[in-house]
Amino acid sequence: MITKRLRRQSLDALFLAEKVLRDGQLVAVPTETVYGLAANAFNNQAVARIFDAKNRPADNPLIFHVKDVAQAAEFADMTPLAERLFERFSPGPLTIVSDLKSRDKLLACADLDTVAVRIPNNKFLLELIANCGFPLAAPSANISGKPSPTNCHDVLEDMDGRIPLVIDDGESKTGVESTVVTAGWNGEIVILRPGAVTPEQLAEYGRVIIDPRVTEELDDGEVRSPGMKYRHYAPKAKVLLVDGDTEAYAATFASAFPNVKLYVITKPEKNIFAELRDADRNGVDQIIATLPGVTGFDLALRNRLLRAAEFNVVKN
Ligand code: AMP
Ligand code: MG
Repeated sequence: MITKRLRRQSLDALFLAEKVLRDGQLVAVPTETVYGLAANAFNNQAVARIFDAKNRPADNPLIFHVKDVAQAAEFADMTPLAERLFERFSPGPLTIVSDLKSRDKLLACADLDTVAVRIPNNKFLLELIANCGFPLAAPSANISGKPSPTNCHDVLEDMDGRIPLVIDDGESKTGVESTVVTAGWNGEIVILRPGAVTPEQLAEYGRVIIDPRVTEELDDGEVRSPGMKYRHYAPKAKVLLVDGDTEAYAATFASAFPNVKLYVITKPEKNIFAELRDADRNGVDQIIATLPGVTGFDLALRNRLLRAAEFNVVKN
């Protein structure tokens, strides 16, 4: 399959993307978080192509992208708290898990009776969703397990030849996937995956609980967000996190292993995924990065890097 690349501004980008989606095929689309691999969320055959193209485990459900809260309400049974959170943070990087209204099994929900919904903050994507009339299931447009793509080049690195169309809208602004929460009838907000909408911001709307799997390696018990149990966001290079003085640790490491090509990230930032991919392209063997903190946006960086490092942390 030839993968066509169109700039967001090109005259036929919207029209062609809609046509491909209506045909039950996939389009890689820009969002403000990372690039997504989109299909009609209600078309199980189209959604199967997402799991296929990404090599994604079938029990890891996808996020439904909608144009507004009214469209979400067509299939998601939102609590009053969920509605308030959407009102405050949408369009933007907040995904809310609600009960599904219909009992029909959807592949995009991995057959669960819940659905994750988000209103993305990207003009092109919002227009595309409005034109299509159906929600778009869109996980990150990478092969499962690899760092998420934050530009068209990184999308093509994984998806060239696997999908018919990618829409290029430059660098993703946020650089890290959305915050995923449940917003219960009891007023509790549970963070299943941290993102750019921070715990501190959410705390203004209810009691915030951070699922322990956000920062800990647990494989026992019920997994509330199936995506959290897989190896994730990982470059080919090994990743080691330092809790303490990263530069001193890296200097010791470099003198002990002079033949290992080392890349040091003293202050992880929102371009972290692009940095991990660059390291791979440059043939880096070992990445040493500072373990980010537990507040604000750092919690999201900590969550992604812990998985990239398979929870390898040294104190120094
Ligand atoms: P991705 O599509 O790669 O950004 O990942 C979506 C994230 O949302 C994963 O961590 C999923 O496990 C989570 N998710 C999607 N749908 C649900 C759901 N119905 N219940 C809980 N978590 C969900
Ligand atoms: Mg992903």
